[in-house]
Parts: sequence; structure tokens; C-alpha cells
Amino acid sequence: MQRKQFIFALIFQFVIIELITYSSLKSLNPFAVYEQSGLAIKILVSIFLGFMGLSLLGLAASKAIGEKVCSACGFDLMRYATARGGPMKCKFCDRWYHTQCFKAKGGTIFGGCGCQSEPMSNFQNPFNT
Ligand SMILES: [Zn+2]
Ligand SMILES: [Zn+2]
Repeated sequence: MQRKQFIFALIFQFVIIELITYSSLKSLNPFAVYEQSGLAIKILVSIFLGFMGLSLLGLAASKAIGEKVCSACGFDLMRYATARGGPMKCKFCDRWYHTQCFKAKGGTIFGGCGCQSEPMSNFQNPFNT
């Protein structure tokens, strides 16, 4: 997920908690639910507070990684992390990869992603056209 989606999720979950709180207590303090409401409302609010916690964690993780894409497959690092392995960075060229894409490319932790042996493709010979 991208940062925006986490923020939308957080706002959405917060609004739902406020709605539940207000409809049961006519108050906007969700923590009052724990003192004054029935068990069902408590559980409902707890579930959404849990969702908010998860969204916050996701937001923190996506902040640390940013909205980067894998240099091998070109897909979002966080969104495809479950299928293609967690994000990792080549220490030589600072490019990000999914762990599995990195290995598939022939990369190793100590040898880098293969950039060390790549020809300098960014510096094309002007006479070679
Ligand atoms: Zn990848
Ligand atoms: Zn590299």
C-alpha cells in the first residue's frame, strides 16, 4: 500500500470510531466507551482501534521505505513484498530490490546486485550509433 492509502484508511477508521462512539454515548471521546458502553460497543471500538494501529504501523513502514519501486521488476516495493520478498538495498549502487528479484538477478549481499560487473550502460559511446 502507498502512504496515501494508509492515511485514507486511518481517517476512515477514525470516523467510524467517532460514529460508533457518538451513536452510543452522544460523545466524541472514544475512550469513554470503555467506561460507559456495553461489551459489543467496546469490542467494536477495540477492533477499529486495532485497525488504526495497523495503519499507523504501515504508514511508518512506508515512510521508512518511501514509495520506491524494485529496480528489477519495476513494481512497488511494499505492495509486492509478500510475493517477491521484503525490500532490500544494494549497498553499491543504492538501488532497491525485492529480496527474490535481487537473488534472481544474481545479486548477493556482499557482491551487490551485479552492478559491479555491469558495463557502464549510462555512458554510451557516442560513436556507437
Ligand atoms: Zn521486484
Ligand atoms: Zn547494485
